[in-house]
This record gives sequence, C-alpha cells and structure tokens, in this order.
Amino acid sequence: MTMLDQQLLEILACASCKGPLEVMVTDPERNDGKLLCRRCNLAYIVTNGLPNMLPEQAEKIETPEDQHMG
Ligand SMILES: [Zn+2]
Repeated sequence: MTMLDQQLLEILACASCKGPLEVMVTDPERNDGKLLCRRCNLAYIVTNGLPNMLPEQAEKIETPEDQHMG
C-alpha cells in the first residue's frame, strides 16, 4: 500500500501557490513523507499518511544554488 497515490496528489495542491506537489517518502512503514512544492521551495510534512498543508509549518527546501537571500 502506498500512502499517497496519484488520486490524492491530484486533490492536493500547494496551499501557498496552488501548484503541483511532488511526493517524497521518508518512512514507508510509518507512512511518513513530505510533499514538495518546487515553486515555493516548501516541504509539507506528512505524518502517518496525513499531510500537514499549513505553509507556516512546512519546511524550507534547501536550494544551495538558486538562493541568494540577503
Ligand atoms: Zn507552492
């Protein structure tokens, strides 16, 4: 069983930009993972198969090359 299938992905969109999300499974046994938004560089946390879609609780994705924060 997969925690996040295509159907779920079609429903879920980035809460910030409404863009598509990319699934990254970190622990298949516990159904943990992340939903990555490449536009916002945010990783929404998935715990027990339940995504937390609050942008303020999402992790920033490390982008060593394109980020030049002042
Ligand atoms: Zn986004």
